[in-house]
Amino acid sequence: MKKIVPVIITFLFFILFLPFFFRTTQKKNSLYVVCTTSIIADAVHAITDGQMRIKTLMGPGVDPHIYRPRESDVQALSEADLIFYNGLHLEGKMADMFAHMSDRISTCAVADAIPNNSYIESEFEGLYDPHVWHDVTLWSNTVLYIRDALIALDPERTQIYVCNAQNYLDQLTALQRWVEKKIAQIPKSKRELLTAHDAFTYFGRAYGFEVIGLQGISTDAVVSTRGIQSMADHIARKKIKAIFLESSIPSKSIEAVQKAVASRGWHVAIAPELYSDSLGDKSTTASTYCGMIMHNVDVIVDSLS
Ligand SMILES: [Zn+2]
Repeated sequence: MKKIVPVIITFLFFILFLPFFFRTTQKKNSLYVVCTTSIIADAVHAITDGQMRIKTLMGPGVDPHIYRPRESDVQALSEADLIFYNGLHLEGKMADMFAHMSDRISTCAVADAIPNNSYIESEFEGLYDPHVWHDVTLWSNTVLYIRDALIALDPERTQIYVCNAQNYLDQLTALQRWVEKKIAQIPKSKRELLTAHDAFTYFGRAYGFEVIGLQGISTDAVVSTRGIQSMADHIARKKIKAIFLESSIPSKSIEAVQKAVASRGWHVAIAPELYSDSLGDKSTTASTYCGMIMHNVDVIVDSLS
């Protein structure tokens, strides 16, 4: 009997702790991918199959232009096997960090997948507007680029990534057709999109809107009284029906425009918020890329047509 007790204890130890040990080892061995924005992470989640650990640094409502990495972000980035970021200086405060890391960790700026002659120039000399995801066809270019970076990291699962990327591309093609059909409901003369910052220039070019942002490409700049007055003049003169809030920008400046328009004898409505630089949280229909575009287009069509 005395000899049996240690055997039973050893047996129990293995039964109780082996699954834990196995899980920990498996977690440690699984590939780790870090994405800066939720928009990029949506594509990475769609192309992978749940076998990788994927972390998104900037959650819903986070403004990437002024985002400063936290200590936990720096830790995650240093442990990553692959980092996806937008590029074109969207992640203003992190650009230098990625440049320093690129000799040790694989980094992939997804905007590099877009033909350079499709970039829109920004108000900063020599720099381009980073908000490329608001043109669905243009954004589709990033899917195969992300797929190929994942295949280079994990060639054993090539077939899965190829198949999932194709499914995601098919969704984007259907989305593009849906957007074109919806936008056709707005008369061409009414296609004016006035927002808190200049995030919708690619959207405007793709779908025939004149776009005016109160703040310019980056939210780092200060909104001037002159800017508010000039936007109010434009709205009152053209009798524009609605202006738009953005999920990652405070509403104060848009409310100031509404007041300035009222003093000119015209009422402009403040439309529900658009998702400009991040997806919505899980409780909203905008928590995926397709859902976010559909939400924005629905709001724009309802408010302007
Ligand atoms: Zn932006």
